Order: sequence, then structure tokens, then C-alpha cells
Amino acid sequence: MASGRLILDRGKLMLLKSIMEQIPQELELSNIEFEGPLIVIYVRNRKALVKYPSLAQSIAKKVRKRIVIRVSPDARLSPDEAKKIIIENSPREAGVDPDAIYFDEASGEVIVKAAKPGYIVGRGNVFRNMLLAETGWRVVPLRTTPFETKTLKEITHYLLKQSEYRLEFMRSLGDRVHRDVVYKNNYVRVTALGGFKEVGRSSILVETRESRILLDFGINVGAFNDPNKAYPIIDILRVDELDGVIATHAHLDHVGLIPLLYKYGYRGPVYVTKPTRELMAIMLKDLIEVSRRSSRYLPYGEKDLLTTLTHTITVDYDEVTDVAPDVKLTMYNAGHLLGSGIVHLHIGMGLYNVVYTGDFKYADSRLLSRAHTEFPRVEALIMESTYGASLQEPRPQAEARLIDIVKRVSERKGVTLIPVFAAGRGQEILLVLNQAMKEKQIPEINIYVEGLVNEVTAIHLQYPEYLSKKVKDEIYNGENPFITDHVRVLEGPVARPDIVEDRPSVIIATNGMLNGGPAVEYFKLLAEDPRNAVVFVGYQAEGTLGRMVKDGMKEVPIVVENKVEVIKVALEVESIDGFSGHSDQRELVAYARDINPKPKTIILNHGEPSAIEALATLLRKSKEIRSYAERILTPSNLDSIHLTAQ
Ligand SMILES: [Zn+2]
Ligand SMILES: [Zn+2]
Repeated sequence: MASGRLILDRGKLMLLKSIMEQIPQELELSNIEFEGPLIVIYVRNRKALVKYPSLAQSIAKKVRKRIVIRVSPDARLSPDEAKKIIIENSPREAGVDPDAIYFDEASGEVIVKAAKPGYIVGRGNVFRNMLLAETGWRVVPLRTTPFETKTLKEITHYLLKQSEYRLEFMRSLGDRVHRDVVYKNNYVRVTALGGFKEVGRSSILVETRESRILLDFGINVGAFNDPNKAYPIIDILRVDELDGVIATHAHLDHVGLIPLLYKYGYRGPVYVTKPTRELMAIMLKDLIEVSRRSSRYLPYGEKDLLTTLTHTITVDYDEVTDVAPDVKLTMYNAGHLLGSGIVHLHIGMGLYNVVYTGDFKYADSRLLSRAHTEFPRVEALIMESTYGASLQEPRPQAEARLIDIVKRVSERKGVTLIPVFAAGRGQEILLVLNQAMKEKQIPEINIYVEGLVNEVTAIHLQYPEYLSKKVKDEIYNGENPFITDHVRVLEGPVARPDIVEDRPSVIIATNGMLNGGPAVEYFKLLAEDPRNAVVFVGYQAEGTLGRMVKDGMKEVPIVVENKVEVIKVALEVESIDGFSGHSDQRELVAYARDINPKPKTIILNHGEPSAIEALATLLRKSKEIRSYAERILTPSNLDSIHLTAQ
């Protein structure tokens, strides 16, 4: 049965046998395939499927694997016939877009865009099952958004073109993931490849006797021209031995070098959440373009990014996925960025459990809910420590200060410039200002938004289920909490000198440190007028224009067409740190205390040495934390820790 490409091993045979026993004869089973982490059951009698609406779930429960039922190719309707049935039968409320129905012939799935995708799935999958029985195609719904994300569209079309290869890849990966465990006597070792006692180039190698998993593979953009500092320690990696790469979120210090693995010949999977896939594509594309323009050396190109996307597998929060014969992955909300995940690895049938936080926020924000703390089991916690030595101003206070500044600047007919990075902060600032305007705390003025922020906002609208409850409900109700009537989305050629004449107004533009993007252009136009203000809402790295301005320099150099121009800084300069997507010291300690169950080992990473040291000292001082955490470790890059050592 299953694919017939390999001689099946015992465990797999038993598994297949137990699945086959549960499939009713009348469905006419044609084959069972291991496709990546999924087990796909292909049947011929599609009409009979309506009688068994919860068959996949009941098999999944029994064999503890992800099960999907599809109809074999010879029993499917032609795409044209199927399209007609989908359009005619979908409830009107679903708002199906007839021009956005895409058939993936290799997998038998059909992507259907709808305003309310819930309606084409139906409660308990009823409607989706009905369509499967009628057409033989399995519906994958996609939300229609008020303004479209180009990235998602491009990725969807690209993947459809790669459909044959994707199926082949998923099947060979399925064989690999579900291979029999050879070594019963296992160990777990983690090795720090980057991002330890530093911020940037995050990467951790997790090894068992059976498998190798890479967690994140970032670049330190601050050290671009020195591979010894910018890239994780790559020379001890054998890419052909990797079982998988798991990326926590789309920031460059976590995903920036993943395409390099493919350039070196890696052809395994990258596991991410759906929003992370899209954001990662945007960030990496931007990195490639910016590097090309500024003649900075980036060791890979667009082709490697496409290869990365071809091999990307998306996972949902709280969903268990087999990534190796002895490793199960579950991602949980990290509260740091849209789609950001805390990684839970369940290793060796209950031998050991590792939680890696990636970057996380242990407090609710307007945009996202706080990081997850409940896990089935935890023996080791690997935790970020960016703000291990400092406290942030509480969010309500930060919001009040922002509103106050915009109000003050508006009263004197000035323009408030808020430089942001594309993802996270920009969307949150929009939520704050839109609400303040609604509640008449600030006057009704135009808010201009320019740069990558717009594309990223569209991705937020695409995935409301990843957002805080309030924002999610608003989007489900058909509202657009980011782009209200006063928000002006700027695209294409923009007449910036005209825009700065609209006073008072607010301009939100990338990038967040004023070292590129439209924000710099606006800064040049606004800097010399004391009625204006610039408000920094994120970290300003050493050496950036943002840092110089924040530090109070009254004259700053700006490069204009390869010539250095000196700009006088007369505008008001403000800085608010309370919008951070990272936990501050208090939240980090609270997380180590609140995580449940309690870890025996805590490993600190992703922080300057002083931040790591301060946090380690605090954790060691806490009687409560010391009562369960036998070791609190602060490794350096290249250190290995044998987690299962007795
Ligand atoms: Zn991050
Ligand atoms: Zn980070």
C-alpha cells in the first residue's frame, strides 16, 4: 500500500494496518500516503463520504497522527464542474469570490477565497465534507481582506506551480518523518549556534541519537559585513543530516539566513505558522532588495528564498506535528509578533520536553494576547532575555504619552512622524491612534501610512485568529480596525513634500531606526521645523540615524545620492519604550515562575551579557524558582548542553 517506494518497516506497517481497519469498505480505499507530517487517506467512493463526517478525527484520535481524507484523482470532477458546484452551493453569507478559486491538481485541494470562510467549512466541517463528497475536491478556505496582500497571492500562485514537486517532497518527507526509531536508548543535546550572550543571529541545534532539528537561523543585521558575527556558527552543521528547521517568528534575527541552508543543499522542511510564512517572505525579499541596492553582501538570493518557500510547511498553534520519528512539535502563541510561536518539543516518547520561547511578550497588548504558559510537560526552558536588566513603562502609560504628544503637536499645527518597523509596532500604533480619535482624545486628522507597513497590515487582516480577542472580533464583524476613514494608505510614487504640508497630521513610515525607507525622507522634510515631532517607539541601535537623533544631536549627517548632507534637528524628539514586543525584566521573571509544569533546567539566551547576567542573578535569588530549577545556565555560542545527563 503506502506509496510502495520503500520497504516498509514494522512500526509503519502496524500503523497502516490500524488505519485501514477503521476505513469503511464502501469508501473504496485506494491508497494511504505519508505526506510530510500528514497521513492522507485516498478513497474512490466520494459520494459515500457524507455518511462519515468525522472519520478523519476519529482515526486521528486513535493513532495520534494528523489525518486527512482526500478523493483519488480518478474520482474527482473536472475543475470546471467542481467550480460550478462550489459557487452554486456555497451559502450567500460566505461571500465566495468566483474569480479566486484555485485547484491544486497534485494534492486534490481547492483554495476558495471567501469573505466569511467559516461558512464554506461549516460547523464540524459539515459543508466542507459535503463539497468533498460532491466534487472530490477538498476545500481550503482563505479570507478575503479589504485590501489584498500581494505576498500571499504570489506565494499561493508560486506554490500551485510547484504542486507536483511539493507532493513529491511531502511524500519523501513523510517517509522520513515516519521512519522507525532505531535507537531506543536516547539522549537530548542542545548546541548554541548563535544568539547566546548577544542579540541577533539566533540559532539552536537540538540533537537526539535519532534526529537533528534546527531552531531558528537568523542574521545579525547590525554586523552585516562580518560573517563571523553576522551568521550563526554554520561550519559544525551538516545540512544533509537535518530533519527540519523550526522558525519561531519572522524577524530577521530568527529567519534571516534560512535561505542559505537551501543554497548549501538542504532540501528538508521549514516549519512555521501561516502568518510567519508570509511575513518571512516579505522580510527576506526586502532584505535581498535592500542588500542589492546598498551593495551589502548577502550570501543568497531570490532563488534560494523561493526554494525555502517550496519547502515550508505551516502549522497552527496548539497542533501537534511529527517532525522526526522521535520528535513532536507544538507551537504556542508567543505574543511578540503576528504568528510568533513558542516551540514545544516532545522528544522520544516522553523521554524529554523542551520549551524554547523565541522572542515573547508576557503581557497582553492591543494587538496580541500574552505568551502561553501551560504545556503538557517541560523539563528544560530556553528563554530569551533581551530586557533581562531593564523595566519598560507599562503599556497604558505608553499609550497615554503617545496620545498626549500627538495632541500637543496637532494643537501647534505640526506633523508627528512615527518611524516603525514593518511588523507589529505600526499596527499597534494605528489601533491606539484610531481609538483615541474615536474617543475624541485627539482631533480628527489624517494618518498617513507608507512603506512595508501596508502589506504587513493586510496580512494581519488575513489572519484575525492570531490577534487579540477584541481585534479579532472587530475583523470578524467586518470592521477594519487598522485602516479607518482617517488613515491614508500611501502606495506607488508619493509626493512627500505635499504630504508634510497637510498639518496637523501623523505620518507612520518604515523603517523604525531611520536608517532607510520613507521614514528618512519624511525626517529630512520635517526636521528643521520646531512645530513637528518625531516619536521613536522601538529600540534604536548604535550607529543609526535614529539613535543620533534620540541622543539629542542637533545636527545629523544624512547620505543623499552618495553625498553627505547635514540636517539641522529642530523638531521635538520623543521616545516611548512601552510598546516593546519583548517581556521586560519583571515579565521575564514572572514567566519563569508561572510556566507550568516547572522546568528543571533554565537556559538564557537572546540578550546582551549584562542582561543575561542580571536575569540569571534574579532567577537564582528567587527561592521559588530555585525550588524546581536545579540549573540556571547562561551558555555562550558553541557551548553544548547535554540535557538528559543524570
Ligand atoms: Zn523578534
Ligand atoms: Zn529576536
